[in-house]
Amino acid sequence: MKRVVQLRVTGVAIGILAVALGGSIVFWFAAKTEPAAGTKKEISEKEYYRFPGLSGPSHVSVVRAAEPGAWSAYAHGTTSRLAILLTESDSAWLGLVHGLKSIGIPFTVTRDVQTAITHQAVLVYPVISGKVLSPDALRALAAFPRSGGTLIGVQVLGGGLNEVFGFDSAVESYDRTEIVFNQGNPLLASLTEPREQRLSLGRRVHAAGTIGTVGYRRNAAPLAVFDDGTAAVTSKAYARGRAVAIGLDLGFLLLKGYNNRGEELVRQFNNEFDPALDVWLRLLKQLYRSATNEAVTLGTVPFGQSLSVLLTHDIDFTQSLENAIAYAEYEQSEGLTGTYFIQTKYVRDYNDGIYFNETGVKHMARLAELGAELGSHTIAHSAAFSTFPMGTGRERYPEYVPFVKDPVTAYDGSIPGELRVNKYLIEHFSGQSVASFRPGHLSNPISLPQALQATGYRYSSSATANNSLTHLPYQLMYDRAMTRAC
Ligand SMILES: [Zn+2]
Repeated sequence: MKRVVQLRVTGVAIGILAVALGGSIVFWFAAKTEPAAGTKKEISEKEYYRFPGLSGPSHVSVVRAAEPGAWSAYAHGTTSRLAILLTESDSAWLGLVHGLKSIGIPFTVTRDVQTAITHQAVLVYPVISGKVLSPDALRALAAFPRSGGTLIGVQVLGGGLNEVFGFDSAVESYDRTEIVFNQGNPLLASLTEPREQRLSLGRRVHAAGTIGTVGYRRNAAPLAVFDDGTAAVTSKAYARGRAVAIGLDLGFLLLKGYNNRGEELVRQFNNEFDPALDVWLRLLKQLYRSATNEAVTLGTVPFGQSLSVLLTHDIDFTQSLENAIAYAEYEQSEGLTGTYFIQTKYVRDYNDGIYFNETGVKHMARLAELGAELGSHTIAHSAAFSTFPMGTGRERYPEYVPFVKDPVTAYDGSIPGELRVNKYLIEHFSGQSVASFRPGHLSNPISLPQALQATGYRYSSSATANNSLTHLPYQLMYDRAMTRAC
């Protein structure tokens, strides 16, 4: 499951279609339904549109049980790759793996030092210490930069390698709030924007505080420093090799963004440039490329272009389906493809009237005809979606009737119901296969990644780029947690 983050560009178009009320007729009728368990009396009479004879989907959506990821799945490839020497398997290594994939650095994962040092660049993760590495292994790592290799250590906390990395001591702390990168170093020359050169580690006043870091004392040529003056990224040059110590858990940091759990690090919700994860990946890319004779990295933009921009529209208002046609016609005339996240609104509730009816599906079919990609924007469009239950996986139209009572309350909705019934309806009336999803209000249930997988989605736009701390697409994690990818 890939998540596609949205770069909202002011002035280029898009976002939510907010338009004036037009004159088309909304068809709906009232139907009496039996209150389901947990249903409040006052909404026992629901108003919804029913397409005659339509019922589905007929299959059952099954959420697979969580199985932890295995590092051995990434233990392959030639020695021209970056070697990840994994010193603790109970760590956020999947975050690192997904980050390297997103920036296009080829890598292999190993737990064997001798295998690692056959590569020209070795990243030791998540920690270097005498507890996780044998004396032999530490000696081999110490000799590596002297023999021309590039050694990158994450959280160098022991093992007697201080001199190898070129610092006096390492100090752990939860009190650091900022990192400043040294743009004067050729490895960091591409960090030309102020927001690339200065990264937040959280705020002391924030409930979530700051993230833990390791500051290195007295490094002669640091690539980055913390606000307390210790080095966040050390550097020591050898005749041909190099040693670099990084002062935070990169995999953990990457998963903070990918799991939409980096609230203490987020500077703003959207409409800004926040490369808090990308800067680290770009540094690793530079280190790998400068260390490896046969380095090959994959471009992050298709067709050799310099920038990807995704044009997305949310269809969640009575007149939006009709008005979207003008957008799709314009995009077609410019050779562009936009994505239209459609709320299949066949229920009248607090949010709005009904527009997913005979007229609505004609407009939607026209969007498909114009070449637009149709995506899902739920049925209820409830801000309470993140609290919906996991349901049965058997939800189907027309029996599935979620109802939004107010901004914080909705009844009879479920996570798979919002995903599979919506997908079914859009596919039925458009002939397209729906692959993309965006929740209303970006309400993001913990179990959304595996629910999306169970219901056949491939792409999710469930968090802003700024909340994700990256502008690159990345893989989602089961339960938005650390151990299993979706
Ligand atoms: Zn919306």
